[in-house]
Amino acid sequence: MSGAEPAAAAASVDRRATVVVIGAGQAGLSAGYHLQRHGFASALADAEPSVDADAGPGAPRIFVVLDAERAPGGAWRHRWASLTMATVNHIFDLPRFHQEPVDPSTPSREAIPAYFAAFERERSLPILRPVRVSSVRRADDDPRGDLLVESTAGRWRARAVINATGTWTNPVLPHYPGQETFLGRQLHTRDYVSLDEFAGRRVAVVGGGISAIQQLEEISRVAHVAWYTRREPVFREAGFTPEVEGRETIAEVTAAVEAGEPAGSVVSYTQLAWTPYALAARRRGALERRPMFTAIEPHGVREADGTFTTIDVILWATGFRPALAHFDPLGLRNERGGIEMRGTRVAAEPRIHLIGYGPSQSTVGANRAGRDAVAELARYLEQDGVVPTH
Ligand SMILES: Cc1cc2nc3c(=O)[nH]c(=O)nc-3n(C[C@H](O)[C@H](O)[C@H](O)COP(=O)(O)OP(=O)(O)OC[C@H]3O[C@@H](n4cnc5c(N)ncnc54)[C@H](O)[C@@H]3O)c2cc1C
Repeated sequence: MSGAEPAAAAASVDRRATVVVIGAGQAGLSAGYHLQRHGFASALADAEPSVDADAGPGAPRIFVVLDAERAPGGAWRHRWASLTMATVNHIFDLPRFHQEPVDPSTPSREAIPAYFAAFERERSLPILRPVRVSSVRRADDDPRGDLLVESTAGRWRARAVINATGTWTNPVLPHYPGQETFLGRQLHTRDYVSLDEFAGRRVAVVGGGISAIQQLEEISRVAHVAWYTRREPVFREAGFTPEVEGRETIAEVTAAVEAGEPAGSVVSYTQLAWTPYALAARRRGALERRPMFTAIEPHGVREADGTFTTIDVILWATGFRPALAHFDPLGLRNERGGIEMRGTRVAAEPRIHLIGYGPSQSTVGANRAGRDAVAELARYLEQDGVVPTH
């Protein structure tokens, strides 16, 4: 079904799904898989389901996945070419769907979309694309009533929403004085394409995360790199196992989001690892961190100590934030900018689950979160007599 619908043709009447999943990356696909296992059928089976269908007790469970991409792969479609299957951390299998071995030098942006596409075909997931959701609102004051999901393919009414929109579409772009006067090139991690564009240049890499170090290492092979971070980067000297340190990290992030803190970056919890590329950068002398510059000038940056460094390119490897602007009409955020969570559920809004968020911002976490969100929503809907379709 994926890609087969004329998604751009906006429907004039509301369509209905018991659950709308937003996003079809690892998290959204996991949710789709588990919805099927809980007896949710495709909401696309009928050409134009009317708004009155599927509302009351005894109603069947149906779902749809709305995804902004043109084709399968989620954010992996956009990762830079040199991020290969050998240099990604580890991509967990989608639920019960084994990844065929691929040449480790294959770009992840080719291998993973192909793998996702095979999963979507195998499961016949009801995915509409390219469809971007612009807002989610409450239909009325009934706390167990419908949600209205506004999208580029018209409006959907749903009893619940599972959000799996990731972070890629919401890059963090800090602002520094004089930035607009810079005559060189500025780009973000997500715009990084390949090494060639940096050959022989003087490049400022800003940021202390995993992507910053990967890109810094690559660029330092062909260019002069100056590395800027706000805080002194901390490299983990001890090992990291999923069973011990991994669990501790997940517990820490879970506690933070349950307290309503904004979800932090991965390395703010795990610290940096001495990966082969970090070691290579260090050997090359590229891992000499400088404190953040204080201003940007037309031909370079003003260092913290007042000296000037000539720079041709600034790479903002400054990370991403969860892409949640479509929930703004619901006022879910607190004054700290966080959303208080209970597991995958928004504490104040049981109809909305966020997956691939907080502790589930990894391929394995996304898998589990999809499973947990669906199990909880199935129980929630059962209380209103919404029953499995098969
Ligand atoms: C450079 C990089 C490398 C990484 N490497 C690893 C790794 O090796 N292993 C690992 O476990 N994790 C890794 N991660 C973390 C990774 O992002 C997650 O593990 C996982 O891929 C995220 O899946 P997701 O489904 O949450 O999001 P995504 O893959 O980002 O999917 C979100 C989907 O939602 C869609 N979408 C967004 N907004 C809307 C909207 N408003 N309406 C409709 N659709 C929308 C997007 O188009 C996209 O298709 C990496 C992250 C980055 C940035």
